Amino acid sequence: MDRSLQLADSLGSLPWISPRELKTLNAAGLASVGDVLMRMPRRYEDRRRGGDVASVQNGDTVCLQVHVYSAGWRFSYKRYFELSVGAEDEPHGVRLLLRWFNMPYVAKLLAVGMDLFVYGRVREYGGRLIMVNPDFEQMEEEDTGSRLVAAAMGDAAPPAAAVQEQRQPIHTGRIVPIYRGLSGMPPRTYRGIVWRLLQELPRQLPPAGYDVAPKYPYREALNDIHFPAEDELQHKARMRFALQECFAQQFRVAWRRRRAQQEGGMVTATDGAYVHELLAALPFELTAAQKRCIEEVRADMASPRRMNRLLQGDVGSGKTLVALCAMLYCIGSGYTAALIAPTQILAEQHYRNFCRLLAHTDIRVSLRTSDRADDTGSLQLDNPAEADRTPRLLVGTHALLYKKNRPQNLGLAVVDEQHKFGVEQRERFISSAGTAPDVLVMTATPIPRTLTLTLYGDLDVSVIDEMPAGRGEIVTALRNPAHMKRIITFMESELQAGRQIYIVSPLVEESEKRAHAAATSELERWRAIFPNESIGLLHGRIQGDEKEAVMADFRDNKTHILVATTVVEVGVDVPNATIMLINDADSFGLSQLHQLRGRIGRGSHKSYCILLSKLKKGDERLDKLNVLCRTNNGFEIAEEDFRLRGPGDVLGTAQSGLGAVQFPEWLADLRLIHRATRDANAILDADPALTRPEHAPLRELVQNEDDTAVTG
Ligand code: ADP
Ligand code: MG
Repeated sequence: MDRSLQLADSLGSLPWISPRELKTLNAAGLASVGDVLMRMPRRYEDRRRGGDVASVQNGDTVCLQVHVYSAGWRFSYKRYFELSVGAEDEPHGVRLLLRWFNMPYVAKLLAVGMDLFVYGRVREYGGRLIMVNPDFEQMEEEDTGSRLVAAAMGDAAPPAAAVQEQRQPIHTGRIVPIYRGLSGMPPRTYRGIVWRLLQELPRQLPPAGYDVAPKYPYREALNDIHFPAEDELQHKARMRFALQECFAQQFRVAWRRRRAQQEGGMVTATDGAYVHELLAALPFELTAAQKRCIEEVRADMASPRRMNRLLQGDVGSGKTLVALCAMLYCIGSGYTAALIAPTQILAEQHYRNFCRLLAHTDIRVSLRTSDRADDTGSLQLDNPAEADRTPRLLVGTHALLYKKNRPQNLGLAVVDEQHKFGVEQRERFISSAGTAPDVLVMTATPIPRTLTLTLYGDLDVSVIDEMPAGRGEIVTALRNPAHMKRIITFMESELQAGRQIYIVSPLVEESEKRAHAAATSELERWRAIFPNESIGLLHGRIQGDEKEAVMADFRDNKTHILVATTVVEVGVDVPNATIMLINDADSFGLSQLHQLRGRIGRGSHKSYCILLSKLKKGDERLDKLNVLCRTNNGFEIAEEDFRLRGPGDVLGTAQSGLGAVQFPEWLADLRLIHRATRDANAILDADPALTRPEHAPLRELVQNEDDTAVTG
């Protein structure tokens, strides 16, 4: 029974947590001691700033040490519990009234004669000084000593070790942690539980997992992050936990990278005949960046090592062609190549594009989406003998991941617009392919460098950092709806010149039905403005053949205006479209706006992106829109987005498959990431199989990685 508390212990085993409290904690997903202690404060309140009851004034937010002279229920417009309090040595000097509304339990805890710490804001009301619903704490006999008074007055706190010996105030007279609220549990109860867990944990505690900073014991950091004696300690502790998290992530990345490198790949890209044929037939020259990327990819494919490469390039930089060359190398060597797109529209567009470019070859291009299977020949995926005979290029959506569709004899998998898939899906696809095909991941969303190292650290990276020549300039302007008349005149002149227009609206509605209604009414609005133009409508509810028909009409210039939601975001290619009007642009993310803008400026004409916003000049939500007006460089925009929104949010949108990140600050910290990566590699160099006993926690860390590879 003398066993001390462990992080893994169930909260249910603690007699001092009531069944009701336990239920609340469990409902919030907190089952173990560690669950509670790894739930970090959302912020802190400095309640050290002490004050003298005698000199407290209207408007002060203070922590005071007071004596209770009277207590009781009162009623004015509402029932409340009231204490009159003052300095202890001055019985007639009642200075302050404390009132609690809707908190009947307070009456059970407080009584005349007690000494309390109270924290709150003082207000003058009817000539009296009042604190409403203050936080409070009863001082025990020994607490009234000078140490606590000193703490309450904001003087230097005693050394941490000494403090632990004695009873300390939890809710007042110190820097107090504020946690995200749990429904059904008062904040002070929760804070009290955290406090008591920390008290009962043994002084020495190995961290859960590998210890990245043994000089600053994990145990101490736990204290510091929940109940910091000084503000800097809280930062120091956060930094330590951030490093711990960063290291765990980068270690997994390093492990995955090594594992991929060890895996035998296939030697493809031995025959470049298809590639030469294609390039000779193109009406334009490849950019130098495209050539370099193709060569990097080819070299990877030709080596017996498995390729695991990321192809990064801004919208319109010509990634598809690089991917196609890679696929042709693969097919030329007798293997099947597959390209997976995130949406059906894109899969179909690639499919059509490839069919056209490869029409003169004997390559069979097949389309596999959830809706249908199209084929230039007859598609019989279940017949391996047949599949092996014809050089084949498969295009599909995630439907290609389903078992019955898994391609045979796959030599190369290209994953387009990777950010829409997430790391796990990528892994699943790769491992489901059976053999070990080369993998090329393409992303048009430039992401900040630090995120590349975290999300794609296991991949080699090729960057297309150059746009094809002859692209029309894109001008971006921020406008208020008050300018609508002039905008419409301008749109008319572009239409007259034969150009086409995108009009994009954000979809805030949650229900599809209402989204549909909103999109339709937007369509009606534009029909009224341009009664003589043919206008198409595209939104999430329009699916399959209908969607395809709408896109085809716009592509073929049968419709001149396309009213759409963000379904036009990725990859859609209509070079004749020169205006993109974005309604309520402020409600989109920066990277998303950049993606949208990438739909124009694809031909040789000058293009215009008009960002409409109802926000007033000077509103800081317009900052991101001004970034877009300033630059067209996707990488610059990504860094700016990162800075404006913070790593947590950017990561959220990236649907990274990174899992929960508790300390997003490290995602923006290049130095920390480099350090973690270096440490991870040093460990793996010295002990590649992690067999040393001290590396057992690291083995555990990567166990999951291996599991997904086997079972995925
Ligand atoms: P993204 O990188 O956004 O996927 P795409 O591969 O769709 O870009 O290319 C956009 C357009 O540019 C396509 O119409 C493509 O044919 C064309 N393109 C690609 N490379 C070149 C080049 N080197 N010169 C001119 N046009 C190019
Ligand atoms: Mg593309």
